[in-house]
Amino acid sequence: MTDETVRFGVLGSMFEAMVRDRSAAKKRKRFRTLLDRVYTGRDYFSAVRLILPGLDRERGSYGLKESALAAALVDALGLAKDSPDALRLINWRKGGARSGANAGNFALVAAEVLQRRQGMASGGLTIKELNDALDQIASKENRAEKTAVLASLIKKTNAQEMKWILMIILKDLKLGISEKSIFHEFHPDAEDLFNVTCDLKLVCEKLKDRSQRHKRQDIEVGKAVRPQLAMRVGDAATAWRKLHGKHVVVECKFDGDRIQIHKNGEEIHFFSRNFLDHPEYEHGMSNIILQNITVERCILDGEMLVWDTSTQRFAEFGSNQEIAKAAREGLESDRQLCYVAFDILYVGDTSVIHQSLTERLDLLRKVVKPLKGRLEILTPNGGLNDRRLQGEPCWSLVAYTVEDVERFFKETIENRDEGIVLKDLGSKWEPGDRSGKWLKLKPDYIHAGADLDVLVIGLFFVAQFLVGLAVRSDSTSYPNRFVSFCRVGTGLSDEELDALITKLKPYFRKNEYPKKVPPFYEVTNNSKERPDVWIDSPDKSVILSITSDIRTIKSEVFAAPYSLRFPRIHRVRYDKPWHECLDVQSFVDLVHSSNGN
Ligand code: ATP
Repeated sequence: MTDETVRFGVLGSMFEAMVRDRSAAKKRKRFRTLLDRVYTGRDYFSAVRLILPGLDRERGSYGLKESALAAALVDALGLAKDSPDALRLINWRKGGARSGANAGNFALVAAEVLQRRQGMASGGLTIKELNDALDQIASKENRAEKTAVLASLIKKTNAQEMKWILMIILKDLKLGISEKSIFHEFHPDAEDLFNVTCDLKLVCEKLKDRSQRHKRQDIEVGKAVRPQLAMRVGDAATAWRKLHGKHVVVECKFDGDRIQIHKNGEEIHFFSRNFLDHPEYEHGMSNIILQNITVERCILDGEMLVWDTSTQRFAEFGSNQEIAKAAREGLESDRQLCYVAFDILYVGDTSVIHQSLTERLDLLRKVVKPLKGRLEILTPNGGLNDRRLQGEPCWSLVAYTVEDVERFFKETIENRDEGIVLKDLGSKWEPGDRSGKWLKLKPDYIHAGADLDVLVIGLFFVAQFLVGLAVRSDSTSYPNRFVSFCRVGTGLSDEELDALITKLKPYFRKNEYPKKVPPFYEVTNNSKERPDVWIDSPDKSVILSITSDIRTIKSEVFAAPYSLRFPRIHRVRYDKPWHECLDVQSFVDLVHSSNGN
């Protein structure tokens, strides 16, 4: 057999068997057999890229997530849009037949549908043909062209093979074997080499001979490096214990795109977490990098964010691509891309990942000239930290006690969002590592299904709302008393916030002296929790869906018996009438049931 003739069915059968295997050792053995018996001496990459599709960057993105794949399959199979099978595909989350046993797994739902249409016999598709077809899907712009390729694949496969092809396109095979095990079985140095090059093809070509060890390679400018990642911990005390005796820096966890900037003279690359280059950032950023980086060659690690020049704040996550597009088209905007560098991996002709974080942060300060709202550096001194607005909490701080961490966490969440990252200042930067040199701490948000629908009863001029819970006397009449519950400000975009304030403005009741509370609201004597304005009457107000950390706190400040830690507005419920807001008793029951009482 030549490379041209190895059938994809061989891989499909191996996948099926791996799913059934109970132990990782058995799964590994099957992979070894494939390499030794079927693939020996061949182009390993053509098979390995199908086994680790998430690591294959040669053909970029397919532009087909489940919903687009469902629509494409409906067309490729020539199904009527309202036929039961088409609906099954489109509603894959709810499941296919057999009481929805496959619900939520698109490829399994698709296999059910395909089984009824494709024969059992394989059409003899080869691995080479499959790779060519996948190249085509990735390179075609519109869905009709992608659909035509899918249709040709359906002709050459059976349902089982097609199921695996769909999983390859979705880049998740669910084989129950880790990428680490696959790498180790392939070659003892495969994972290390991949981590510093992010190049699966190179790994497969260089490490063909398992008995030949490969000299450890360092990172290079121009080749994406697998990013160091953070391990999640539950609370500040656990984080502190894990980093016992170490020098620790705590940093704000920015919510943007993790981007590595590789500068080689005039050539600049922006690599994202999945190793892809993002040329769309060039327009807004390349000149700034060239003018403000003092060395010829370097690699920066950091987060790409959006800075709003009118509010002098970072904008909410999600607008990066839009801003990049606007910059490319030369459109005027208050918003611009801003890169926050939190680490440096390469300087001049040398990799610096083996130096300590303290040393790297020193280098970062030497190499990067910060430019406000454009190119920032995150270190305990200098850059962003020195230029924060008055009264703003800091972005990065050396912590000496667990209380320092607690305070930093609280302030960061109350003022910004996401969470914090703790780093050992003595540690190296390790490609692909998530073993705990970086720890992340985020509030444990109740998932969206358990949002609490509360009523706005007042407003603070710092764009925060005082929200309340209803006190129900009986189930038939509308509530006429509301107890203050918590203060919440984060979660809405500037536009959403403006719209909400505009809607409530006609009902603001200016506070009189002495601060008089409208009769339907119950608050404590704590004057800090008196809003700047009350909402005139509850029936004019609006419900907010809020979420929060799962740990509620006993409230000494608000009138309700419990309050929320790190509350966050999930959305404004203009659609929900004011009298359907959550009541105190239901909330107390909820707290007790989630505490297991
Ligand atoms: P999450 O969904 O919580 O963002 P994740 O899986 O994307 O997690 P983690 O490795 O768990 O990534 O967290 C590290 C990520 O946090 C980085 O990839 C980076 O994008 C982001 N980040 C933001 N600020 C920092 C910072 N100061 N230091 C390191 N990473 C940061």
